[in-house]
Amino acid sequence: MVKITGFTTRDVRFPTHLDQTGTDAMTVAGDQSVAYCMLYTDSEHVGHGLNFSNGRGNDLICQSIAIIAPRVVGKDLDELTKDWGKTWRYLVMDSQLRWVGPEKGVIHLALAAVVNALWDLWARTLGKPVWRVVADMAPEEIVRCIDFRYITDVLTPEEAIALLKETEHGKSDRINETEENRAVPVYNTSAGWLGFSDDRLKELLKEGLALGYTHFKLKVGRNVDEDRRRLAVAREVIGYDNTLMVDANQVWSVPEAISWMQSLAEFKPWFIEEPTSPDDALGHATIRKALADTPYGPIGVATGEACQNRIIIKQLLQANALDVLQPDPCRVGGLNEVLAVLLLARKFNVPILPHSGGVGLSEYTQHLSAIDYVVISGKKSMLEYVDHEHGHFVCPARVRDGYSITPTDPGYSAEMKAASLDAWEFPGKEGKSWWKSDAAKPLLDGDMV
Ligand SMILES: [Mg+2]
Repeated sequence: MVKITGFTTRDVRFPTHLDQTGTDAMTVAGDQSVAYCMLYTDSEHVGHGLNFSNGRGNDLICQSIAIIAPRVVGKDLDELTKDWGKTWRYLVMDSQLRWVGPEKGVIHLALAAVVNALWDLWARTLGKPVWRVVADMAPEEIVRCIDFRYITDVLTPEEAIALLKETEHGKSDRINETEENRAVPVYNTSAGWLGFSDDRLKELLKEGLALGYTHFKLKVGRNVDEDRRRLAVAREVIGYDNTLMVDANQVWSVPEAISWMQSLAEFKPWFIEEPTSPDDALGHATIRKALADTPYGPIGVATGEACQNRIIIKQLLQANALDVLQPDPCRVGGLNEVLAVLLLARKFNVPILPHSGGVGLSEYTQHLSAIDYVVISGKKSMLEYVDHEHGHFVCPARVRDGYSITPTDPGYSAEMKAASLDAWEFPGKEGKSWWKSDAAKPLLDGDMV
């Protein structure tokens, strides 16, 4: 029996805007950050969870973690995990907190950090990585992790069990493939940040090809002529045998998205990611319909990283708005809600490409893609991978030969090294944190961009 005895939360920020990492049409100067949560117990185990943000405001998530985490302190882990769906609803259903959501925004980001810390803790006590904890569950146990409220009009627990039972065929072979690091092919976003020069873009694409990548994603949406130039550069390097995707990070209205993408159609992108507001299910459907037929072939539509809960994802799927769904491991309320999202995608037969474009996200999504392949869709999905900031993690996400190396350590892989937490904590301690150093002064004293 393991009892949760306390928690801490820490605001950790990396000054990534200094080298333009993470830049896109919306994010001109982000500092990739982590709102961190640790759950302490009366055993040797500690649960680690995090959420991602882009700098200012990370403290709001930390403060919200400090409001939610006390709801699990004093509780037995067995009690919390034996009916996971009920526990998730208990955490979401703090009636006073609901007004600052419900199930969206800062409070939901904080929930994800706490929920994922619980999964991490539970997996450690079981001695397994999280993907394997879920892979070893019966369909009924997986379904019991989910709060089906608001989605039973398209997916009932009974139907979800039936879908999972269908996928059970071949499961042990898929587990073997996962253990041999051949289950999760990855694609590369690291080359395509908008602030990178053409030379850096070329160099990084070449590096990606040499590493075995076949799919590459570029940011677009700030200037159409520049986009045409950069896509031409990219196609020159990767040719047309490899796949190119583009991402506008929500910058357009619906008509702008359609006309802008028509101007880029000759470069044959597989899909446009986040063409408009992530809340606009019908707008995505309009864009998809308009781009289904261009003189150069169809352009698909993708979104998901900023979709705040299973309800908006349900509506995107109901509206036939997507060719690809990109679930984020902690934009929705942690793994339990991600399982609902993966099952919805399975129901609508839409492939998933989990979103990893931020510090700590790849560490989580490697588990999600493995779970989807082994127990939910039974199909391989292409996982986003960005190679920044992995050195801060105790068990970092890694790739080899274009595939994710499946995590084997117990837990959910989000534990950060103690030295990294101290070195990048904001505002941090004198003599320990980079943010207290002279190097940080120009950032702290400069214009807020
Ligand atoms: Mg994106």
